[in-house]
Amino acid sequence: MSFNLATMLVESRIARPQAPLLYCGDTTLTNEEVDRASARVAGWLAAQGFERGSRVAVQLPNGPEFVHSYLGALRAGLVTVPLNPLLRPGEVAHQLSDSGASLLITSGDGLEGALAARVEAGLPQLPIVYVGAAGAADENAERLVAFDELLAGEPLERPEPTAPQDTAVIIYTSGTTGRPKGAELTHFQLYMNCTIAGERVGIGPDDVILGALPFFHVFGLSSVLNTALRFGSPVVLIPRFEPSAVLAEAARHAVSVFFGVPTMFIAVRQAAAAERIDLPTLRCGISGGAPMPGRSLEDFEGQFPAAVLLEGYGSTESASVVTASRSRQDRRAGSIGKPIWGVEVRIVDESGEELPAGAANVGELHFRGHNVMKGYFRQPEKTAEVIRDGWFGTGDLGYRDEDGYLFIVDRKKDLVIRGGYNIYPREVEEVLYAHPAVLEAAVFGEPDERLGEEVVAAVALRPGAQATPDEIREFVKDSVAAYKYPRRVHIVESLPKSPNGKILKRVLRQAAADGAA
Ligand code: ATP
Repeated sequence: MSFNLATMLVESRIARPQAPLLYCGDTTLTNEEVDRASARVAGWLAAQGFERGSRVAVQLPNGPEFVHSYLGALRAGLVTVPLNPLLRPGEVAHQLSDSGASLLITSGDGLEGALAARVEAGLPQLPIVYVGAAGAADENAERLVAFDELLAGEPLERPEPTAPQDTAVIIYTSGTTGRPKGAELTHFQLYMNCTIAGERVGIGPDDVILGALPFFHVFGLSSVLNTALRFGSPVVLIPRFEPSAVLAEAARHAVSVFFGVPTMFIAVRQAAAAERIDLPTLRCGISGGAPMPGRSLEDFEGQFPAAVLLEGYGSTESASVVTASRSRQDRRAGSIGKPIWGVEVRIVDESGEELPAGAANVGELHFRGHNVMKGYFRQPEKTAEVIRDGWFGTGDLGYRDEDGYLFIVDRKKDLVIRGGYNIYPREVEEVLYAHPAVLEAAVFGEPDERLGEEVVAAVALRPGAQATPDEIREFVKDSVAAYKYPRRVHIVESLPKSPNGKILKRVLRQAAADGAA
């Protein structure tokens, strides 16, 4: 049986060859053009004689070459390993050797680092394909190929007949604990996920999707790129998130659907308010990856009245989505919605017993269904720690209300325990976001000799707004129980974020410990 994700593009090419698929700066590529380019990349890859299922690491920003490489590898029956372009050579080396990559595709600018990484990985013979000029690197180094050569390959017309359970991509987790692990996601999982999540909000060929989330992360790869391919919707490629430029591109291409992490919605709204730019075609925003503060959601919908902002929840290991809200009618303030079709969720206590509904019954969220990853690549023990009897344990704490809506209260590892009391930072952050001067906020625990941990907040203020740490602390003190309010408030220029836009609490914890937050 053939079940190859790359077939999604072949179908769009047959149905609507001249329809635009990728907008990238001033360039527009149609379904046919993307299909031709990826068929040639696939043909070149096939000619290298890589075994079926070999890994092709792709370290590129969102751009046509990423899409051609990803679809080319899938079409040739190979596995794509997308890597963050900002990784240091040592980190790239780990992912190359751990995944046993047969090829690395990178940008000419990053070539020097890539050459260092292949030596550090113990793979000095690893072929490297580079996009654009070779930058500062030695162009005569062994086994270097310019990307243009791939585009001159003989096209591979029919996608290789992969099976539904064959691995399509391996995505490395960002690795808060220990070294990053490669989550193996199959053709079937990824197809199901973009199909179900896209249908949930009625995505179709008339939509234009904003591609601001990086494709090296599952949210961007599955919810943006695969959804665009699956439903034939054009996608606006954003290689680097810069709010004003993103807003301008969104307006220029009449974007209708915007997938993002909360900090992206906050930043784009801020830019739109400052520059007085509207997005009248925007009908839907889908926020995931981190909690969406209620206040920021209201601000966004106030700024773009034609749009509804819906919240979903997922992770790398779930091929992107576990739960999502469907529409304005089907959402509850602060909820991540209900499980998508074919997925079950349960909330369990420490002993693994399922908890009944109710806000008082907070436990760990487990899910099972078609979206559970195949496993961590070549790590059966690590896989067995998180998947038991088909249920994946997320490490997130939450509850279900009487009507089945799910709520995340926080990550287990971000919980602050102060003098024996549990504090969910998210609850305190919601109060901080309600302060008129606060743009972004993060609450975390700092080691304390007497109490174990002390509650600390870092906030970035809205442009032009004024507030002192004392004022902010007093504001929160009035709204939450005495043990919860932050004893220290640090006002910072901006909060540290992952390349995906998530606020990095571990960096804040470290900075506070070093006295520099
Ligand atoms: P790593 O696992 O590598 O440390 P990470 O936890 O950020 O990084 P991802 O797979 O990118 O890994 O993100 C999944 C996590 O993001 C979830 O487990 C959850 O903690 C958080 N998350 C996702 N969506 C939401 C949401 N809507 N509300 C709250 N938290 C969310």
